[in-house]
Parts: sequence; C-alpha cells; structure tokens
Amino acid sequence: MDVTIEYTHIDRFIRGLLSHYDVIAPVARDGRFIFDRIDDPAAVSPQYDTTLLPPVKWIYPNNEVLLEFDLRDITKAAVIAQGRPQALTFVHPCDINAINLMDDILAEEPSDANYLTRRRSTVIIGYECLGPCKENYLCFDKGCHITYKGFDLFFTDIGGRYYVHVATEAGREIVEEDGIFKKAAYDDWVDLMKARAERKKGFKKVIRGDMEMLSHHLKEAYHNEIWDIEGKKCLSCGACVIVCPTCYCFDVSDEMCPDMEKGVRTRRWDGCQLRGFCKVASGENFRKDAAERVRHRVFKKEVYLKKRFGRSGCVGCGRCIDYCIAKISIIDIFNHVMDRVRENV
Ligand code: SF4
Ligand code: SF4
Repeated sequence: MDVTIEYTHIDRFIRGLLSHYDVIAPVARDGRFIFDRIDDPAAVSPQYDTTLLPPVKWIYPNNEVLLEFDLRDITKAAVIAQGRPQALTFVHPCDINAINLMDDILAEEPSDANYLTRRRSTVIIGYECLGPCKENYLCFDKGCHITYKGFDLFFTDIGGRYYVHVATEAGREIVEEDGIFKKAAYDDWVDLMKARAERKKGFKKVIRGDMEMLSHHLKEAYHNEIWDIEGKKCLSCGACVIVCPTCYCFDVSDEMCPDMEKGVRTRRWDGCQLRGFCKVASGENFRKDAAERVRHRVFKKEVYLKKRFGRSGCVGCGRCIDYCIAKISIIDIFNHVMDRVRENV
C-alpha cells in the first residue's frame, strides 16, 4: 500500500508518532546535523546532509549495561535488554543499508540479545535521497543510495507532498491511525517516477574501476605502499570508526556495587584504529603500526565482511572522510588501488 502526505501535515504526523514512540530525528545542532530524541516536531529537519553519528547508534548505544550479576549466584546473571519503542525518522538509504548489515552481523550466533531486543522495538522511517547530500560520498558506487528493505515507511519528496511506501504492518498502523495520509493516486506515482529519473542524474561514480573487483584488487594490494603512506598520516584518533555506521567493535567492563556482591557489565564502543585495541594480556600488540591498522579497517569493510555476508561493509556514507583530521579518504585509497591495477595490466 502506498500513500501520500502533504508537507503541511508533517508536524501532525510527528506528533502522532510521539504518542507511541521515542522519536529520534535529524536535528540541526552547532552547524551540523545529529540524530536526537525530540519532543517538538518543529525541531525536525527532514532535509539534512549526513549526521555526525549514524542512526544505528540508537540501536547500538555506547555505555550500554548488558547484564546484571550477583556474585552469590553468578548463574542468575540477567541480560538487560531494553526494548522501549522508538521511531528512527527520515533515515537515509545508506544508513538503512548499514542497519540491515548490522542486523545480520549481530544476529550471528552467539547473537547479541541487547541489540536484537532494541532493534525489534524500533520502527524505521526512511527518506529517499534524490541527489548526493554532500561532497564526500561513495554511496552511489556502493549501490547504497537506494534501499529496498529495512524500513517500515519510506518517504520520497515529490513536490508539495511526500510519496510514502508502506512496507510493514507497523508502518500500516502508523499511516492508518493518523488520518492525514491519502491513498496514492496515479499522478502521485508519475511524480515519484519523475523524481527518481532526476535522482539518476544527480549521483556520480567516484571510484575509478569495476566495484565488483575491488575486494579482489585489495587482496592483491596487501603489500601496496598506500598503507605506509596513509599510516604515516594517521593519528590513531579512532574518529573514523566511531562515526562509521557498520563499525561495532566494543570492550566490556564489570563494575561492582559498593556491597561488592552485585554488579553490572557495561559495553563501550572500541575501535581497531586505536593503538591499544590489539594489545593483549602478555603486552604484545598484534597491529602496532598505524599502517597495519589503516589496512585492517579497509580490509574489514571491503574484504572480510564481504566474504562473511556477501556484501561490502562500507555503505559509502563518507563520514570517515568528513571526520578524519588527517584527511585520510577511503575514496582515495580505493582509487589508488584501482589505478595500480590498471598500471600493471
Ligand atoms: S567506511 Fe567510511 S564511508 Fe564506509 S560506511 Fe564506514 S564511515 Fe561510511
Ligand atoms: S580518523 Fe583519520 S587520523 Fe583518526 S584514526 Fe581514522 S584514519 Fe587515523
């Protein structure tokens, strides 16, 4: 079922969501956009470029209490899975593709009960990109500027109103309850097709070469000079992995209550670009050079995850480029590798 909603009714739509869900939406803050919990529809900015942190972080939060335990009977440790209903709104296709991948990664055994519980209580309202939202993007090369699944509703701006694809039962309940959605008519569909035809013209390919071969070429470039070149620039700050919508590495710590009997286990985000990430108990660090760490990040996205899940771990959002103070660009790394292949042919 497809419906439409006038621009002027968006406030009412969000107000309706607020009566059932914690609403997480793109808002402007300090000259950039972030996803934040809102209570006022006026705060929402459906037109935004990429947010600082991706929306998946609301399903996979930092400093999350994973379980409670009692040392007097450790077998009764209880998982703290919080499933408060939340609506992630106006989510771009690249970020929906990232959530789809995270769903697969974290459902693998042993599955992540905390993530899966929160995911089940999250509805996702997608928002179509009709052109690139900023300069650093490779979502088009990745095929992630569009998405066919992973959302309950999907909005496309067709001028004066939004075309809304209703994909799930939860989505249907939202649009039926509001009474501000109209069944999509033929003219609405024609306008949708026109908007999508224009979208095709907006995006440009930025990686030189055949993306299907990228993983293979990277493996051949394992000893390429690019890793040392970029490694010398890298400050090991970890910004690139913290902002990435498909990075999920974490560390856990146990904290005791003052009674020294009860305690909690907490998960904190961690990242492979940080110097101490690969340091083990004996003091060895099995990825001690920045060059090795930079290579690992790129291989994790483009080789290892691709092998495990059949698709790249990079959805092309460009956040790692935007927030790298050393100006290391995954686009430049991919192009360097592709160019080397061509030179050697
Ligand atoms: S590797 Fe960079 S461009 Fe790719 S998904 Fe992560 S942050 Fe986005
Ligand atoms: S953001 Fe840049 S400088 Fe910081 S760890 Fe990542 S690649 Fe290195």
